[in-house]
Amino acid sequence: MTRTPIIAGNWKMYKTQDEVRDFIRDLIPHLKGSTAEVYIAAPFTLIEKAYKGARDTKIVIGAQNMHDELEGAFTGEISAPMLKDVHAHFVLLGHSERRNVFKEDDAFINRKVKRALSESIQVILCIGELQNERDEGRTEEVLQRQLDGSLKDITEADLKNIVIAYEPVWAIGTGLTATPEIAEEAHKFCRSYVAERWGTESADAMRILYGGSVKPDNVASLMSQPNIDGALVGGASLKVDSFAKLINYESS
Ligand code: PEP
Repeated sequence: MTRTPIIAGNWKMYKTQDEVRDFIRDLIPHLKGSTAEVYIAAPFTLIEKAYKGARDTKIVIGAQNMHDELEGAFTGEISAPMLKDVHAHFVLLGHSERRNVFKEDDAFINRKVKRALSESIQVILCIGELQNERDEGRTEEVLQRQLDGSLKDITEADLKNIVIAYEPVWAIGTGLTATPEIAEEAHKFCRSYVAERWGTESADAMRILYGGSVKPDNVASLMSQPNIDGALVGGASLKVDSFAKLINYESS
């Protein structure tokens, strides 16, 4: 089974309208050499601008979070229909900054996953262990708990619209990347998890991205691992120069 790689940028709380216009314009010439699907998770205010700039290209624009309710008295939140209204194709759910800074739990993330899917928004589900959990040898236990909770009641058909991103929290924004071997071990675990619950066909088709200080100089070695199907990139997705190198990792 060949899985088309995804290189996804996560812009977090960075960029303005003008910066997005310039970024997309300058990225477009670099798309032609890339065999990967190119995703950008933009801040809410920039989704529509990014979508319009990227229209007629292969750049796929999405969001970094959403609420599980369709509407209501949830000050400061954004719903799935609102995301669709500005043409977000996908949403990151369960990012470690949402889990650890904003204290989102797996039950909430699970409700969001189901809502996104029922509203035809593709999900990139982020999971990953903290440094102390790895040090205590509990990485697989943590990944299993997050997958159990976030993917509760998800069907085989739903899985087609889910991508998993393994992001060890100790490697996010720290400059500490998991070695390709460490990342591969976790990805293999995630694929076996999917195989045990939904079968080998779903597991073979599931794209599992690695995230955590991916840079132009380490992307190719990570991508050479059999179970790594792409990257979710924060810092190095903010500049066209480095993001262009990432999406063209095969020619680096
Ligand atoms: C992320 O935000 O998901 C991420 C992996 O960030 P960084 O690449 O900066 O570690």
